Amino acid sequence: MTQGDRVALDNCIKCSICVSHCPVARVTEKFAGPKQNGPDLERFRLEEPATVHPSIGYCSNCKTCDVVCPSGVNISVMNCKAKGEYVSLHQVPLRDKLLSRVELMGKMSRLSPSLVNFLGSIKFLRLLGEKVMGVSAEMTLPHFAQKTFLQLYKAKKLKNSKRKVLYYPGCYVNYNTPEVGLDLVKVLNHHNVEVLVDQFDCCGLPIIANGFLETAKGYAERNIEKLRKYAAEGYQIITTCPSCNLTLNREYQELFDLDTSKYCVLDAFEYLDQLIEQGEFKTNFKNMPLNLGYHQPCHLKAAGIGVPSQGILQLIPELKVTDLDAGCCGLSGSYGFKKEKYPISQEIGQNIIRAVEELAPEQTITECGMCQLQIDHLTKKAVLHPIQILAQAYGL
Ligand code: SF4
Ligand code: SF4
Repeated sequence: MTQGDRVALDNCIKCSICVSHCPVARVTEKFAGPKQNGPDLERFRLEEPATVHPSIGYCSNCKTCDVVCPSGVNISVMNCKAKGEYVSLHQVPLRDKLLSRVELMGKMSRLSPSLVNFLGSIKFLRLLGEKVMGVSAEMTLPHFAQKTFLQLYKAKKLKNSKRKVLYYPGCYVNYNTPEVGLDLVKVLNHHNVEVLVDQFDCCGLPIIANGFLETAKGYAERNIEKLRKYAAEGYQIITTCPSCNLTLNREYQELFDLDTSKYCVLDAFEYLDQLIEQGEFKTNFKNMPLNLGYHQPCHLKAAGIGVPSQGILQLIPELKVTDLDAGCCGLSGSYGFKKEKYPISQEIGQNIIRAVEELAPEQTITECGMCQLQIDHLTKKAVLHPIQILAQAYGL
């Protein structure tokens, strides 16, 4: 533990605000909560690392506690490190190893995405998977696309383009929703911005959230090296995934003490905000008479960059965007796919159902792929990324 961690730990004033905002502690007594698992137990873990309460596995790594703590205690990092210690000292289910390797699952799906999607729809196999592996038979599985984003992406040389960006799509866009990445490329090309993509490793967040910190550190080191190279070549780096953004920008440094200062990853809408500031943002929108319900992902809140997509979508004529303001969706990556966590995840998500019923939007949108999947599962309606709405408004 560094001196900085020590100071952060001693800053805890025991107000319990983190406990009252923790979505998991709100719905289950199985989780001792952020204060007890974070600063309270950390004092003991400093002396004896094995003092890790097993309930740490119930922390979903949503990072709400960090956002609300008035004293700046980095609770989720403490919890991630504690989970890492717990995992290194105990046997963990094979399921957790598999669920954390989303990139590997994506690569395996390439053998036959249709077959993988079909097998995932067979109830008997899902029940078997729950019994043998502990993967919930109820949770909607991600749908694998026929072609990955990297296969579908075509580099476009633009005349007189002064701007170049490197796009980090993340595993979910690459393997499951390539249309999101393609719409981003269209929007950026529309602004005469050239887009480059490259083969990156998974950001490692699912591996971190499952406590395999040593493995995740290797991912971090490889990604940092590539990101530094592109930043040094003058590329601005952007992503459409808030969780990848948070991991690449902050988690590598906070968890592994790696140097992330040589690059900066922007949210796609933060980048578009820059174009607005520089007077280069196009507003040749079609009218869109549509009511949208917007869900802010927890990791976008944790990134502390506000909600850049909402400001930009408000520029589209006749489009109305309303914040669902329903808190965490509950899925938290692989968390809600685990048999014992699925009911917790669904209970947390009830606020989303209520908000959608009350607002009755014609379309729900959110930046995070996992939030999209959970809201789709909860409301039985497809959810889009805000960049898809923007691309539609431009008629691209
Ligand atoms: S919100 Fe912060 S200061 Fe308050 S109990 Fe939690 S960790 Fe301590
Ligand atoms: S990261 Fe989320 S689930 Fe974990 S302690 Fe903090 S608020 Fe609770």
